[in-house]
Amino acid sequence: MTSAPTDLPVLCGIILHPAAHTLSPVLHAAAYRELGLSAHYHAFDVPPDSVRDALAGMRALGLRQLSVSIPHKETVLELADRASEEARRIGAANTLTRVGDEIVADNTDWIGVRKTLEPLADWKDKRATVLGAGGAARAVVFALRSLEMHVTVVNRSAERAERVARELGAEVGTLEDPFDLLVNTTPLGMSPDLDSTPAAREVLRPDSTVFDTVYRPLETRLLREAASVGCRVQDGLDMLIHQAVEQVRLWCGRAPDAENLRAAALDVLKA
Ligand code: NAP
Repeated sequence: MTSAPTDLPVLCGIILHPAAHTLSPVLHAAAYRELGLSAHYHAFDVPPDSVRDALAGMRALGLRQLSVSIPHKETVLELADRASEEARRIGAANTLTRVGDEIVADNTDWIGVRKTLEPLADWKDKRATVLGAGGAARAVVFALRSLEMHVTVVNRSAERAERVARELGAEVGTLEDPFDLLVNTTPLGMSPDLDSTPAAREVLRPDSTVFDTVYRPLETRLLREAASVGCRVQDGLDMLIHQAVEQVRLWCGRAPDAENLRAAALDVLKA
């Protein structure tokens, strides 16, 4: 599928740790069914100290495509042979493609963020606070800067926040800073950690939008509390769907219908 779709069964998948929460196999299965491609997409649970081995395995086993999720998005960029301009500028990758002998890193998360936020408002010159400074945060900050927003990064470890802010044109701040948009890119609130939240109810502003990139559950504690104080809320499913659509487009040269992927995801989330 790298450059031209094939009739042979293709083995591909996602590397992440832990692997239990991912919906990517469901989305990709729906996409390949729709496009008539015989591809098998698996979730591979790869702990952090095995990422190098996973990429060696990708070469040795002839896997042509891998998605990448928590917490490997920054590491794979260093291990890949080449990277797209966007992945290099973001400093993180969620997509690996074997082209000949090379592994090429790309990033479609930032497109998922833009496609999620663009229909909601004109964000130019508005203020965003991004919680977290990992691989997802990098794609979010890049997308928000491309929308000409002023971005503040708030993270548990200050050093990582400073690096993201410096490299992507944002500032380091606190949850006390004013914002029009609050984006959670930490795993806090993700199943099974349902009682956690990255921001106390008291800091949520009724005139703001709160976007949680977590999608399992769709309604996190953060979004429930944000809605209860009058914020507009956005869950992580649109981002997930749009980054997957772009990933399949990159790999197959054709894009699946986002609504088919949404239906497949909701079947699982509501089961
Ligand atoms: P990552 O690279 O491991 O980064 C995780 C970030 O969360 C780091 O900034 C980390 O802070 C912070 N964090 C982790 N545990 C924390 C805790 N207990 N308290 C406070 N901060 C904590 O992971 P990632 O790839 O960015 O993914 C993060 C989340 O984004 C995932 O859980 C996923 O739900 C979401 N995501 C969603 C989509 C989507 O399409 N909807 C796509 C990508 C990611 P430190 O720097 O201090 O360690």
